[in-house]
Amino acid sequence: MAAVDAAEVVVATSAQEAVEAFGSGADVTVVAGGTIVVPEITHGRLRPRRALLLGGAGLAGLTREAGRTTVGAMATVAALDQAPEPLRSTARHVADAEIRAQATLGGNLCAPPGEQSPRGDLQAALIALGAQVRSAGADGERTEDVEEFLAASPGGRLVLDVSFADPQAGSTAAVRRPHAHAYTVLAVCAARTGGQVRIAASGAGPRAVRCRAAEAAFADAGDAQAAADRVLDDVTPHDDALASAWYRSRTLPVLVRRALTDLT
Ligand SMILES: Cc1cc2nc3c(=O)[nH]c(=O)nc-3n(C[C@H](O)[C@H](O)[C@H](O)COP(=O)(O)OP(=O)(O)OC[C@H]3O[C@@H](n4cnc5c(N)ncnc54)[C@H](O)[C@@H]3O)c2cc1C
Repeated sequence: MAAVDAAEVVVATSAQEAVEAFGSGADVTVVAGGTIVVPEITHGRLRPRRALLLGGAGLAGLTREAGRTTVGAMATVAALDQAPEPLRSTARHVADAEIRAQATLGGNLCAPPGEQSPRGDLQAALIALGAQVRSAGADGERTEDVEEFLAASPGGRLVLDVSFADPQAGSTAAVRRPHAHAYTVLAVCAARTGGQVRIAASGAGPRAVRCRAAEAAFADAGDAQAAADRVLDDVTPHDDALASAWYRSRTLPVLVRRALTDLT
């Protein structure tokens, strides 16, 4: 990783050290894989007072036990090849091999919205999986639904890990550009866990969104098209350098239909 320019740099060597150094999170910039943070520092758009490097903090494991998967915040996107669907396929399509080897689950979950292109593809997979996020911050440690975590704006918490019940099935459908270093334009993830189907979209706004109206329509009739017709009840697509809001609005229902059709 490139040098991190900050008034103070803390290199955590354990999870406990990381939590102590993070404290309330005030004036702390967490550096995980650094694929977003380091370029921001290099170009002078971010000037951390205190940088907390998590690379040696031991937060990288992925375990699957008793029907439940737990993934450390520092697990690389490449390591998610061992995760259940739709997390595995979503991770496989983040950027390219070079970025996936460096980028982390925690960094993707906490990625600030991109101005030019979407970030945070893994958020949709985690919402579809009904994941729980364990984090530390001003009020100590807590575990909450990933949706609550994202709604509260992730900046003020240190993510330790995420966990979820292994789904019976998972699927994803996405629009991507077929060249290296590309961002996903728009994606839909679906998962069936304990008989319930959850659907989420990423790339349509600043953060991934759960598609509750589409879920309800699918639960009523098991009809993928009926669900697709309701997805814009919850999602308001935006313009960016990759695609227009109009294009995303036309494409999103198609992705919902495909993801649900593939959910075997
Ligand atoms: C060429 C290129 C292509 C890309 N393509 C995609 C793509 O297709 N899809 C996609 O989703 N993203 C993409 N990205 C964005 C980015 O690489 C990923 O989102 C990545 O997973 C971020 O992880 P990181 O560990 O590098 O984050 P970092 O840069 O280290 O951190 C990102 C943010 O999260 C915070 N953070 C990191 N870890 C934690 C933690 N444990 N607790 C609290 N806060 C934390 C940091 O403070 C920072 O605000 C791309 C980036 C590049 C450069």
